[in-house]
Amino acid sequence: MNIGFIGLGNMGAPMAANLVAAGHSVTGFDLSAPCPEGVASAATAAEAATGRDAVITMLPNGAILRVVAAEIIPVMAKGAVFVDCSTVDVDSARAVAQLAEDAGLLAVDAPVSGGIGGAAAGTLTFMAGGSDAGFAKARPLFDIMGQKAVHCGPSGNGQAAKICNNMILGVTMIATCEAFALADKLGLDRQKMFDVVSTSSGSSWSMNVYCPAPGVGPTSPADNGYKPGFAAELMLKDLRLSQQAAKAVDADTPMGQAAAALYETFVETEGGKGMDFSAMLPRFEKRHRPD
Ligand code: NAD
Repeated sequence: MNIGFIGLGNMGAPMAANLVAAGHSVTGFDLSAPCPEGVASAATAAEAATGRDAVITMLPNGAILRVVAAEIIPVMAKGAVFVDCSTVDVDSARAVAQLAEDAGLLAVDAPVSGGIGGAAAGTLTFMAGGSDAGFAKARPLFDIMGQKAVHCGPSGNGQAAKICNNMILGVTMIATCEAFALADKLGLDRQKMFDVVSTSSGSSWSMNVYCPAPGVGPTSPADNGYKPGFAAELMLKDLRLSQQAAKAVDADTPMGQAAAALYETFVETEGGKGMDFSAMLPRFEKRHRPD
């Protein structure tokens, strides 16, 4: 395929490189990041998108996605597929998909899980929203950049799946960290805590795969000074998106709301910016019970 790729940052660059390695012809555009080796450089987003079979975007947020979409949709070839892999609000995903479909394009919102490591290794999980035809056209590209792609329903449902998943992740990470800090104060050895919880009903991905306690469980960012991994500010972004969506559809999400508030304080006033999201554990370690 002839592919346009817009947004070549931490995630986009390795994803585009994997498409090149699989034999596709990729033309990229980014406002500041350089094109990875093998990706032809376009001077504008429109140039990267013109005449391509597929255009992939990997951008910071919904506002930027809307601006880029308005620029590229009019120049894209009829029948081409517009695949947005950014994590954005559900409303922006649906608005952009509508514009694309009105212009005779296929549209898929396909946010990812798996982070920078998954992007480099080609092992991302794609959560896709859009028509069957759009998903079918994008699927071979998902198979190159990832190991799993789930078609979650119509436009916006990929973003819905992503923010629900990450709301669970934020909540379970906080619960795991506060439990470790409580266990410390009760004199329970962290390794024993891991041995019990990881094989009991308190187990979760946060405990079993991404354990926030250094030296315990599998290797994780905790073993590397809490260098991300998945940065606390990206978790905050996703939790905010979940609460924005919950508000829009009148869903009661008290744990998600509490997690968003905790990560907000952590990132904005407690030095959590630039730390992995599991650095909630050293945060709790230092704290006392509020009155
Ligand atoms: P990033 O900031 O490294 O990359 C975004 C890129 O978009 C930057 O290079 C920036 O210059 C470029 N950009 C911004 N505006 C642009 C425009 N108008 N035209 C062209 N390029 C533009 O971010 P990232 O870590 O690659 O994340 C990208 C998306 O993936 C985000 O939506 C993020 O939430 C999501 N995501 C990230 C991770 C992760 O671990 N980093 C994991 C899952 C999902």
